[in-house]
Amino acid sequence: MVGEADRCIKCGSCMRACPVVSKVGEGVFPGPRSLAVDGPRGRRNAIRASDELLKCSMCHACASACPMKIEIPSAILRLRETGFDENALRPGHARMVHNIDQHRSSVEPVAYSSLPSDPASELCFFPGCIGRYRLPDIASAAIGILHGFGTSASCPNELVCCGSPLEKIGDKARQLRLQEQNLSILERYDRIVTSCPGCTGQLAEGYGLDAMHLVEHLFEDVGLSKISHAARHRDVKVAVHHPCHLNRLVGPHTKEYTIQLLQAIPGVKLVDYDAQEDCCGAGGSLLSGYPDIADVIGSDKASSAAAAGADMIVAACPFCVINLGRSGTMPTQDLGQFLFASLKR
Ligand code: SF4
Ligand code: SF4
Repeated sequence: MVGEADRCIKCGSCMRACPVVSKVGEGVFPGPRSLAVDGPRGRRNAIRASDELLKCSMCHACASACPMKIEIPSAILRLRETGFDENALRPGHARMVHNIDQHRSSVEPVAYSSLPSDPASELCFFPGCIGRYRLPDIASAAIGILHGFGTSASCPNELVCCGSPLEKIGDKARQLRLQEQNLSILERYDRIVTSCPGCTGQLAEGYGLDAMHLVEHLFEDVGLSKISHAARHRDVKVAVHHPCHLNRLVGPHTKEYTIQLLQAIPGVKLVDYDAQEDCCGAGGSLLSGYPDIADVIGSDKASSAAAAGADMIVAACPFCVINLGRSGTMPTQDLGQFLFASLKR
């Protein structure tokens, strides 16, 4: 990264784009340039992982804004990995590691659900920790949509956390153990679909598998005309939230896919508001490590949607749904759940 950091022209675009700097200020979070450029160049004092590095939400807004294409979040991730200390974890991160060790889930298994599964299917639905253990209705809705449009799905109970939350706190060793367990199951399948952008990115980039998000499957494999024919929602004004890990990591095409999918549902009117692509504050393990910062970012975004006249927020990410809904400002629903509820049955 020192070589990459040397390309920095000090334009400040990354600092202006950073949602955490913008909400809490550089006194609390030094920001992308300071951490990923000045730190590796030795122009900054030693970076303390728990106090500074872990306040980054991994939204990639800085990398998108950087004219020199410096991969700032990757540099922050590498610093987290180098500085990982199991004995100095934030309380929320320690709980996550405990849950992984006990249950192979990053969240406490408060709502475990054995999801519908067709073992003969060549498509695997990967439920993720939230879909399996916290909000199983999201995973059930995704499987229901797959079935509704004629695709059976297998969802083996042996699948565990994809490891993305561990990688985000720098715990690469545990992440690789989970990856090994999942790979022994997933390698049998031709296709993998998830409803969590973090899982999609981890399975595609980290594991090297052919994984796609539900939004991609719906747009590319099902098609808008079938969706428009099959769905109908009561009249509702929807503010779309574009999850950072879907929009900036899985790919910017997902933004247009999401908009067109929702517009294809009769009864849905999309509301325009400035913050559509802004981070919700949940990612990068910010929600588990610094819930107060995640709360400020999430509730401000929900307020923007409310001020624009929306009835609800729809987001294609279970983590975003949790954080945007925490303030109680605005009803928030997962895109798969929203579509499943709209299907005429
Ligand atoms: S990834 Fe997002 S939160 Fe992290 S430094 Fe970049 S802009 Fe800020
Ligand atoms: S946006 Fe890129 S070039 Fe500009 S200050 Fe940040 S890291 Fe440097």
